[in-house]
Amino acid sequence: MSLSSNHRYLIKVGWLFLLILSGKSCESLQDLQSPGNNTSLVLLISLDGFANNYLGKAYTPTLDSLTKYGVKADALIPVFPSKTFPNHYTQVTGLYPGRHGIISNRMYDPQFKQYFNIGSASTSVRDGRWFDGEPIWVTASKQGLISATMFWPGSEAEINGFRPDYFFAYNSSIPESDRILQVLEWMALDKHRPHFISLYFEDIDHAGHLHGPNARAVFTTIELIDRQLNQLAKGITSLKLDEVVNLIIVSDHGMAAQSRERVIFLDDYISLQDIEVVNWSPVLELIPEFGKQELVYEQLSTAHPKLSVYQNGIFPESWHLNGHRRATPIIGLAAPGWSISSRTYFEEHLQAYTGGAHGYHPGEPDMQGIFIACGPAFKTGSRIGSLESVHLYQLLCNVLGLIPAQNDGIQEVWADILVKY
Ligand SMILES: [Zn+2]
Repeated sequence: MSLSSNHRYLIKVGWLFLLILSGKSCESLQDLQSPGNNTSLVLLISLDGFANNYLGKAYTPTLDSLTKYGVKADALIPVFPSKTFPNHYTQVTGLYPGRHGIISNRMYDPQFKQYFNIGSASTSVRDGRWFDGEPIWVTASKQGLISATMFWPGSEAEINGFRPDYFFAYNSSIPESDRILQVLEWMALDKHRPHFISLYFEDIDHAGHLHGPNARAVFTTIELIDRQLNQLAKGITSLKLDEVVNLIIVSDHGMAAQSRERVIFLDDYISLQDIEVVNWSPVLELIPEFGKQELVYEQLSTAHPKLSVYQNGIFPESWHLNGHRRATPIIGLAAPGWSISSRTYFEEHLQAYTGGAHGYHPGEPDMQGIFIACGPAFKTGSRIGSLESVHLYQLLCNVLGLIPAQNDGIQEVWADILVKY
């Protein structure tokens, strides 16, 4: 291999740079000139709660390399509410929550007369009735591609009669390293190798909630995940799949610092007997007792300068939730960094509101997430402005060569970063 061709290869594919970082010799690059099966493969990785403004604050050689040799957006703007399930499901369907039905992490459906709850003990996450729209793995299956999910909200449910070809029930105790090994095992398959794979890491979100977004513990966690991503990159190179795998790294939302000095006490303004609270903070989702809606709305709408309150049907257009049956009749939203509580809960939970939270309006800088991608479909060193996560499904379809289902995203927003468009 001549120096110049070696150089070209390094510029083109970020993985190889990582390989060199790992101390392997250049001789192994020779083997990588045989890319093998060229069928495109997308690995979509979610780093839950990775705020866009975390970038640059931790030592992340892997993310830096992927950025240098791939593409990066200024920010990935979440959908409202900036919560985990609504955003992950938007990313894979291209639909706003008001159209895909996962409008919150916890919801009440007046038609089903049931609650939706997240968490491994919940059966609702496996119940396809809650999930409208068409996630990417369903689009893939319908068009003959294979998909595998190493966790993703919605991936445990049968949706429109489809499931991922390979999937796991969410289990937070499975270490990152094992999740990566599973992904590499799928990539090593011959005939049945998936075309779409998802991978999910929650530890950055947990650290942000517990310690707040400015804590050293958050950045230590990011550095740990970055080393895991390097292991993944080395594994991809070992499989000789550098010219096949398109890695897309996203987050679902950012994180804002909370304070016990910034709490709105609901019971200072209304009787808690008059309402059922589906979600408390920072998105207050209320079902008033029969006949009490106007009273509750009036009491809350002027209650606190850091609390905005709306009724279903006249929610802000940017929420894309008007008229949805799972959106409660009244929704309140706290200003960034503010929390909503009751006096009793606040007094009984001395550690509450001392860490970080999300759910705030997606336009808030603290709520914005990340987008970094690297692989043969992406231009080298290309940059793109801030864009909404609702467009991500269109990108996945483009790279996989799939015809998208009906969705709210626009494929053209990705044109500048793609090699072929
Ligand atoms: Zn999340």
